[in-house]
Amino acid sequence: MARTMQRTGRLASLVAGVAALASAFAAPAGAEPLAKVLFGGKALPAATRPASYGFYSKGCFSGGVAIATDGPTWQAMRLSRNRRWGHPTMIALLEKLSHDAVADGWPGLLLGDVSQPRGGPMLTGHASHQIGLDADIWLTPMPDRRLSATERENMSATSMIRKGGLTVDDRLWTPAHAGLLRRAASYPEVERILVHPGIKKKLCDTVTGDRSWLRKIRPFWGHDYHFHVRIGCQAGSPGCKRQDPVPAGEGCDKSLAWWFTEEPWRPNKNPDAPKARDLMTMSSLPKECRAVLEAPDPASEAAVTVGGANMTAAAAAAPAPVSVAPQAPAAPPAISENAFAATPDMGVPIPRPRPD
Ligand SMILES: [Zn+2]
Repeated sequence: MARTMQRTGRLASLVAGVAALASAFAAPAGAEPLAKVLFGGKALPAATRPASYGFYSKGCFSGGVAIATDGPTWQAMRLSRNRRWGHPTMIALLEKLSHDAVADGWPGLLLGDVSQPRGGPMLTGHASHQIGLDADIWLTPMPDRRLSATERENMSATSMIRKGGLTVDDRLWTPAHAGLLRRAASYPEVERILVHPGIKKKLCDTVTGDRSWLRKIRPFWGHDYHFHVRIGCQAGSPGCKRQDPVPAGEGCDKSLAWWFTEEPWRPNKNPDAPKARDLMTMSSLPKECRAVLEAPDPASEAAVTVGGANMTAAAAAAPAPVSVAPQAPAAPPAISENAFAATPDMGVPIPRPRPD
């Protein structure tokens, strides 16, 4: 009897264990899997025409390319996250910015997250970065040596903001930091650059000459270790939802002053409330995101990686806009087309000799 009980007990706990294990991997019956799990599980982009679907904080994209982990003027950080993917225009812009920044006197870019290979919500981190049009760039200059993979995982960026304060640490801030932001803001594709309000204030207080670019520099929480570059919806992405245009003016006004009041820094009343990305299912996202998720992989990661030491040429040029042929409306949906065939007008940057 005791033995039977023991066996029954063991069996019961075994069954319970299997059930717990199963529920950890499969959503309960009727529940949809989380989009962040599905998109976070993709190692490679959707090998179809480049297109963004939805909004920066609720969407996905196809035809992504990666920026190489290393280029002459950049190093990508946190390689294990596999977030070096973006719309080809975004990736070409990062490469161009890195060249231009070095020409301006910045030592080179340390690149943070762009997007997951097919975008979508992430398992950790950002709310945005979902449609391949957002990228984080460290405010820490690139060291004059190649960082190891371990260093790229563990090295911390440096906050530009004084501890416990809201203003820039003048021991760290340099004119080259302002120059880097000015350069990033100079590209027509760039619609917004998010920085800590203290950095915006520093620019408002110190920039001389042309100040029109300050309009694109927007104060936001975080962004004291890095700045965030956001480009607009690209040609060939009719399903991309535009953001509101930035307000007119330099933004060195009341809207900035608000950040130096107590209101924006009040503790979150509900810190344990789940974030949107932790709730999104495929039905929360544009319907095209299902096809993005199911689209084939490219031949290899290398086939869709831009720039880097192993390439003699850089794809610094902005990709050609996707041409919209008159018969386009009758054509099958964009994401059923393969962008990685040798088609020059698909928007994938094509390596070509770097001009001296
Ligand atoms: Zn960001």
